[in-house]
Amino acid sequence: RPALEAIDVHRTYQLEGVSVEALRGVTLRVDPGEFVAVIGPSGSGKSTLMHLLGCLDRPTSGTLRVDGRDVSELSDAELAALRNQTIGFVFQAFHLLPRTTAVENVALPLVYRGVGRAERRRRAVEALQAVGLGHRLTHRPTQMSGGEQQRVAIARALVGEPRVLLADEPTGNLDTRTGEEVMGILERLNAERGVAVVLVTHEMDVAGRARRIIRIRDGLVESDSVPAGAARDG
Ligand code: ADP
Ligand code: ADP
Repeated sequence: RPALEAIDVHRTYQLEGVSVEALRGVTLRVDPGEFVAVIGPSGSGKSTLMHLLGCLDRPTSGTLRVDGRDVSELSDAELAALRNQTIGFVFQAFHLLPRTTAVENVALPLVYRGVGRAERRRRAVEALQAVGLGHRLTHRPTQMSGGEQQRVAIARALVGEPRVLLADEPTGNLDTRTGEEVMGILERLNAERGVAVVLVTHEMDVAGRARRIIRIRDGLVESDSVPAGAARDG
């Protein structure tokens, strides 16, 4: 089954009595193991789309299925549970606890799932090793470079073994070379673990590394294509 599926999805915001149609009928499907870049001008609806795909918000109309579940049939608590089981988030600004060690930052999502302390630590260490930070376990974000902090954030997103990683401008705060390293890690995790990656970016060289580019404009999918030179083997 598709990891994510949107069929004629609309999202309208009400702002002081005025309706803003952020999404105006988006249809797309992301299969397990895909690596997709979402691009488009500011205000085109990318963040709104990512919030919907991440079960942080619901469509105004249309059908959205996440891991095969129609979100309109779920209560808020069920939607939150689906999000926790299925989705990992990576943000531009990392959103780590600054004075907490890398292991504790990464283990945090497991606290809310009732995973025991020893198992949390074991899985957090494994996730940090998977992003090449096995030597930084007890460092705190304040002692780390931007690239290292983003790798901690990727480990935190992965520790719950999500089917989909949603990344909003994951390289936006990083210099070019560090951004390329972070992209390399996302690509490796995608290839080795089969986790689907959907990332928003403004940087064409970042988008060009994806196996598929979805271009959003004015709340609609303007194009959905495979970049020249990339093999689509999803
Ligand atoms: P992008 O991420 O591509 O910049 P957004 O999804 O943030 O686009 O925004 C799409 C449109 O929806 C914009 O016109 C924006 O102003 C509007 N919008 C986004 N979030 C809200 C909100 N919470 N309330 C009202 N309007 C919003
Ligand atoms: P950035 O500025 O780094 O791109 P934002 O701070 O805009 O990221 O976060 C994107 C959205 O995700 C925000 O609207 C926020 O409410 C939501 N968000 C932030 N952290 C979490 C989290 N840990 N889990 C779920 N949603 C989050």
